[in-house]
Amino acid sequence: MKKILPTSTAGSLPKPVWLAEPEKLWSPWKLTGHDLTEAKQDALRVALQEQQNAGIDIVSDGEQTRQHFVTTFIENLNGVDFENRRTVKIRDRYEASVPVVVSAVSRQKPVFVADAGFLRVQTDQPIKWALPGPMTMVDTLFDAHYNSREQLAFEFADILNQEARELQDAGVDIIQFDEPAFNVFFDEVNDWGIAALERAVEGLNCETAVHICYGYGIKANTDWKKTLGSEWRQYEEIFPKLQASMLDIISLECHNSRVPLELLELIRGKKVMVGAIDVATDRIETAEDVVDTLRKALQFVDADKLYPCTNCGMAPLPRDVARGKLNALAEGAALVRAELL
Ligand SMILES: [Zn+2]
Repeated sequence: MKKILPTSTAGSLPKPVWLAEPEKLWSPWKLTGHDLTEAKQDALRVALQEQQNAGIDIVSDGEQTRQHFVTTFIENLNGVDFENRRTVKIRDRYEASVPVVVSAVSRQKPVFVADAGFLRVQTDQPIKWALPGPMTMVDTLFDAHYNSREQLAFEFADILNQEARELQDAGVDIIQFDEPAFNVFFDEVNDWGIAALERAVEGLNCETAVHICYGYGIKANTDWKKTLGSEWRQYEEIFPKLQASMLDIISLECHNSRVPLELLELIRGKKVMVGAIDVATDRIETAEDVVDTLRKALQFVDADKLYPCTNCGMAPLPRDVARGKLNALAEGAALVRAELL
């Protein structure tokens, strides 16, 4: 990117009412078969246009192509039983009924490559595509086959690497791995989580990002945040190893959170997607709110490495709220850009 402070979103945007029930996470598709394929493509075009109208620089599909950021990918793999589910505690936070790994996992066909190709032909702007990270995939399943979180993570990393290479060939500029689990299992992150992620990005020439947040604005997450105290120092545990990793970009929650921004000093040298939009509230930020967060982040992130972004995805928000937040992000970034120039 030549433009400084290029804006993007962490991922999802609200789905239109004709595709899935709005303002609800993981709501089921309203259509099937060919109608669904066409509806997802139409929704992708709308999501792209919303980003373009707001002036977002690095665009995405707004995750219109998936129901869930982890399981939609896993649905396309062999070795996972979606019928006989088990209940597990996800990220040590909330119980969920999840699919079960019953045999060796493998990818028989590309998952999002055609969707990414469809986005690619709609725009000349840089595009970013999100995939789940290996550790977060492991944490969203019950494993009845490998009996090793580490081994399963590396199996998934190999599969993600196959998918990522094809996404790159389809013209994706930045491949992002969503790893909210990195904010919970620090010992495992340092033991094998970052290594598994590096396996997933092996051999890629496009840019790679890892998104680590405190989650969507759902109750389980906001309740958890209340238990974290006045300073959220979770990032501190994993930043030294991330700084030394092969990943190019680190996407973080910074706005309205209790993350002390001086922690960003620990990853100096990396590009940082600085979350300057809170996705856990319907209140629309002003451009000045965004400016404030970006100015603070600039103390610890070099201007040529700062990418203004959202804290997380905006799927559960009303569409007009998400639109307002996109506008605020673009306007705030433009103000800071003008200051720097
Ligand atoms: Zn997130």
